[in-house]
Amino acid sequence: MNLLIKNVNLLSMEEDKVLEGVNVYVEGDTIKHIGELLPDVKVDVVIEGKDKLAMPGLINAHTHLGMSLFRNYANDVPLFDWLTKYIWPLEARLTAEDVYWGSLLSMIEMIYSGTTTYCDMYFFMEEVAKATEEIGIRGVISRGIIEEQDAKVNEEKLKDTENLYNAWNGKAEGRIKVMVGPHAPYTCGPTYLKEILDLAKRLGMGIHIHVSETKREVEESLEKYGKTPVQHLKDLGIFEVPTVAAHCVHLTDEDIEVLKEMKVSPVYNPTSNLKLASGFAPVEKMLKKGINVALGTDGPASNNNLNMFEEIHFAATINKALNEDALSVPAFEALKMATVSGARALLWEREIGTIEVGKKADVILIDLNKPHLHPKNDLISALAYSVQGSDVDTVIVNGKVIMEKREIKTVDVERVYYEVEKRAQNLIRGEIS
Ligand SMILES: [Zn+2]
Repeated sequence: MNLLIKNVNLLSMEEDKVLEGVNVYVEGDTIKHIGELLPDVKVDVVIEGKDKLAMPGLINAHTHLGMSLFRNYANDVPLFDWLTKYIWPLEARLTAEDVYWGSLLSMIEMIYSGTTTYCDMYFFMEEVAKATEEIGIRGVISRGIIEEQDAKVNEEKLKDTENLYNAWNGKAEGRIKVMVGPHAPYTCGPTYLKEILDLAKRLGMGIHIHVSETKREVEESLEKYGKTPVQHLKDLGIFEVPTVAAHCVHLTDEDIEVLKEMKVSPVYNPTSNLKLASGFAPVEKMLKKGINVALGTDGPASNNNLNMFEEIHFAATINKALNEDALSVPAFEALKMATVSGARALLWEREIGTIEVGKKADVILIDLNKPHLHPKNDLISALAYSVQGSDVDTVIVNGKVIMEKREIKTVDVERVYYEVEKRAQNLIRGEIS
């Protein structure tokens, strides 16, 4: 199918500039031409771009999609109680079907707010893959691995990842990628982490892991290994493969050097860090070093939404106050984290992250005809400081229109709401859905 986005304001993210009156041609899944109208080219679908802004679809580089089932269940409690008293007992009852519907709900929310690619770590990942295939979004899936007492169980978890890789890596027209997902250096011991690393190397996968999210984690690592989590992972060789390091809140200057040297991509999750009182990631310092900082929402139970425009807004505002510097993390820099840097973190920079000829057509259109977006003085600032997720009008992934005029075309949204309500209530009541 050939598609034309006609006469649109374009922020390609290649440069810090919005072009007006641009035409974007898509052939199949690929962007073929950007610029003048081509009178001789036949197109199947024309999307009118007047009063719209086209930009690359947003990339949510760290989340736990299935946790939408626990959204707004138990808040304003200490992290330890939240996990042990509320979340873990519910997770123990989760079924594969629950994760399917919960993930589908999260994907709907992401599409509505302009996210076209996610990076997920959870359980029952085949269900997440199925939901991804159906709804038409793009994603990196990792089976979350926590080491247990039983060596057999631990081995099975690695086997799960290998099976997931064989079944789904590169599937759904290339929209699905599989990475290995050791949960964190404090939930996987050194020997197990080495086995995980061997698997990643053998299959050529990246690693998705939580790193230095809380002060306590760093203190315990220093006590146990005499090293920070970053140093510990480096010494184990983990960073020899491309690594997506969620959080990176508590870092020493040496840690930052390691991340730079080993080309690790930290993922900044401002809302989650605020809500769970984890602290403030040294984003400005990392960006100044040239580290590839991506942006994420974390799970919908610790955020409690998956709206990447909110994360962009926080990234561009919190750091200014924190550094007492109004120049800290400018609007374009925050937008880069959610597009270009996200693509690089997920090893997809050749395919997505910018709107360029030859790249996959992952494009969102934002409706500029909103009170909070008038007057149109500076659209890049508008994207960081004024745009709401609900301003996203149209979403194209891999050349396919999956939302048009805020209508998702690939799944029955009402059915998903119904299933999620039913399943969430059953989980809380302790019944099997
Ligand atoms: Zn997380």
